[in-house]
Amino acid sequence: MNIHEYQAKEILSSFGIPVPRGRVALTSDQVERAAKEMGGRCVVKAQIYAGGRGKAGGVKLVHHPEQAQELGKDLFTRKLVTPQTGPEGLRVRRILVEEAVEIAREFYLSITLDRESSRYCLIASAEGGVEIEEVAQKSPEKIHMLTIDPFTGLRPYQARKIALALGLAGSVCEDCVELILNLYRLCLEKDCYLVEINPLVVTRAGWLMAMDAKINFDDNAMFRHREYPDMLDYSQLDTLEINAGKYDLSYIKLQGNIGCMVNGAGLAMATLDVLKEFGGEPANFLDVGGGATREKVAEAFKIILQDSDVKGVFVNIFGGIMRCDVIAQGIIEAASEVHCALPIVVRMDGSKVEEGKKLLLDSGLNVQIGENLGDGAARIVQMLGQK
Ligand code: ADP
Ligand code: MG
Repeated sequence: MNIHEYQAKEILSSFGIPVPRGRVALTSDQVERAAKEMGGRCVVKAQIYAGGRGKAGGVKLVHHPEQAQELGKDLFTRKLVTPQTGPEGLRVRRILVEEAVEIAREFYLSITLDRESSRYCLIASAEGGVEIEEVAQKSPEKIHMLTIDPFTGLRPYQARKIALALGLAGSVCEDCVELILNLYRLCLEKDCYLVEINPLVVTRAGWLMAMDAKINFDDNAMFRHREYPDMLDYSQLDTLEINAGKYDLSYIKLQGNIGCMVNGAGLAMATLDVLKEFGGEPANFLDVGGGATREKVAEAFKIILQDSDVKGVFVNIFGGIMRCDVIAQGIIEAASEVHCALPIVVRMDGSKVEEGKKLLLDSGLNVQIGENLGDGAARIVQMLGQK
């Protein structure tokens, strides 16, 4: 789960990590007032669930409150497109107005879960402010990494080694050690998947400060943090993904035109692979869950059809827990409700499969039955005239 920069900074601050003074604004008038409060000269930062804002005009230094208001107006009325948002961009609903800090040096610092070692991994670089992937590619020697042993935790000497590798000395080095240890504590206590400070800066006056912050919570730990969902900004999420979440469906939009409805994540992955194999392009990943009910199947079908890119639907259901005839009814109900005339291919197996197939073939829908996964994939691709 993602949160905004200003929320991440509030959390950093509560763990003793210094951040610039700032205020969140929801209107351009509030941007102006916040800018006045900061003394006129300030940094106006669009809050979106993506980085790369600086280069895209989403982070700007302004010199007067009126200038801040103008910029606020502009940001609130258009979508911000950055290298991380995709071409459609994201709406800006909140703006962070911050004191302008005199920066002497910029660093990169993050802690993330390394799937390979199943441990937290600390990453630091003196090349901050830019894309870390770029640094990793061009000059990997400038990146310092440390895998953290969960039993010993992060030790001060390890944090000091990182601070020294960043070229820090004296009191700033000791401040950095404390900051790194606090960051690790935050990661553990808040169950983060990623905490990234880019850039971490040393100000002209010689203080360390987190100038940008990104936090991702681990969704699997949500049950331990009931307050997290309240932090979500729904304007930043795909509406279909939000709806899918309500019905406990795993839905991820993809780029193709074949809507896919499958039960079980493994089967869903295999379905996408086989579709691709036959020259089809899936429009989504959708797992209705092992015990797919008629209601869930109907909702899933509606979600798929709300995507205007979808030109045909491939249903691949194994009726182990749920009977095939019940699933067929769910599909028929949903398809009739939304007047679906798109080609549909259903491949199903399990209990009451013959009854299910008969219901579908008698339904009047533009539907074909796939005898097996390969046959089903070939049929939907052929019905759409692909390949
Ligand atoms: P993004 O990573 O999305 O581009 P950042 O918050 O990192 O956005 O901002 C981009 C750059 O703007 C930073 O690398 C930093 O140099 C500068 N910056 C951001 N906030 C401030 C601030 N409060 N004062 C001065 N400079 C800032
Ligand atoms: Mg940044």
